Amino acid sequence: MTVRIGVIGTGKIGRDHTRRIQQVLSGAEVVALSDYSAEAAKAVQRDLAPNARVYETGEELIAASEVDAVLVCSTGSTHEAYVLAAIAACKPCFCEKPLATTAEGAKRIVDAEVASGKRLVQVGFMRRYDAGYVALKRAVTEHTGAPIMVHAAHRNPSVPEQYVTPMAIHDTLIHEIDVFRWLLDDDYVSARVTFPRTCAKSHAKLRDPQIVTLTTAKGVVINTEIFVNCQYGYDIQCEVVGEAGVARLPEPMAVQMRLGAKLQNAILTDWKDRFVASYDVELQDFIKAAAVGTASGPSSWDGYMAAVTSDACVAAQEVEGAAIPVTSPARPGLYS
Ligand code: NAP
Repeated sequence: MTVRIGVIGTGKIGRDHTRRIQQVLSGAEVVALSDYSAEAAKAVQRDLAPNARVYETGEELIAASEVDAVLVCSTGSTHEAYVLAAIAACKPCFCEKPLATTAEGAKRIVDAEVASGKRLVQVGFMRRYDAGYVALKRAVTEHTGAPIMVHAAHRNPSVPEQYVTPMAIHDTLIHEIDVFRWLLDDDYVSARVTFPRTCAKSHAKLRDPQIVTLTTAKGVVINTEIFVNCQYGYDIQCEVVGEAGVARLPEPMAVQMRLGAKLQNAILTDWKDRFVASYDVELQDFIKAAAVGTASGPSSWDGYMAAVTSDACVAAQEVEGAAIPVTSPARPGLYS
């Protein structure tokens, strides 16, 4: 069966996901496109999906009988309404992060999906599909013993003026928040933020870097440095310290060179290059589940827990050094 997919939001990631469905993955075809800007949707139709129909609104696209499954790739504030409409139409829905811009909004999606009685939503937390993180999880599960601490870093070369302090949580740390829950099979109980002195390259409305400390229900302490003006590259680091040993996230493959009396490995500078393969794997997983009318992978519940934790981290930014509780409500059986 070919899954007929409708893509809502044809900006950067919507275009890229359309390309991978049309040119890289198997079992699906993009048959419908919609964007706030009809011109953007038509450009993607012209370049990548000439047989797709352009719909004026996302709601019309979701309701269309020719659409089996939906990709929500529009601006974050529009995700909740589209995901709720896809659930109401009983169509599998892949939603880019964030699932919703508030924890309450994400909870409304969880409630609607639970009421529908089956998994229909996959959230775009692609790091769970990254070969490095998959290998790290295996090492932690099979070799290093029960985790005690995690040391991590998320570094970007630079960010634009519009990037303000809370975005370090909502836009940047959000991927670590999800992947560490998955990696440790654990939930968070508190969040704490500390700020070293702000770096010289930062902007007026951004305190950078910052260190977020998350403590889990099993007592693991996770320290993550977020440094979005680090200048030198896009660098994701993660080291898990366990009872019997330590496991590190592998570096992306890079040819090592001996040149001019130096030993060199190139470091990536763009996040798209770092996780390009994992986007392919996550969407192929979505297509496989959508073909049988359901969803797998990161769930609405994971999207909701990420939103709850993000809110606690942003609150922790306001009271530097204080531990802000992260409350995890009971997990519905659908997500067990
Ligand atoms: P983008 O380039 O700005 O694209 C978003 C598109 O959605 C724009 O064309 C925008 O049109 C359109 N749009 C706005 N409101 C809409 C509506 N109500 N209905 C339909 N389309 C609408 O942004 P992006 O970088 O692709 O990001 C899109 C989403 O993906 C964001 O939530 C982002 O966080 C997420 N994302 C996730 C990852 C990841 O690693 N998983 C990576 C990148 C992005 P206008 O420009 O005319 O407003």
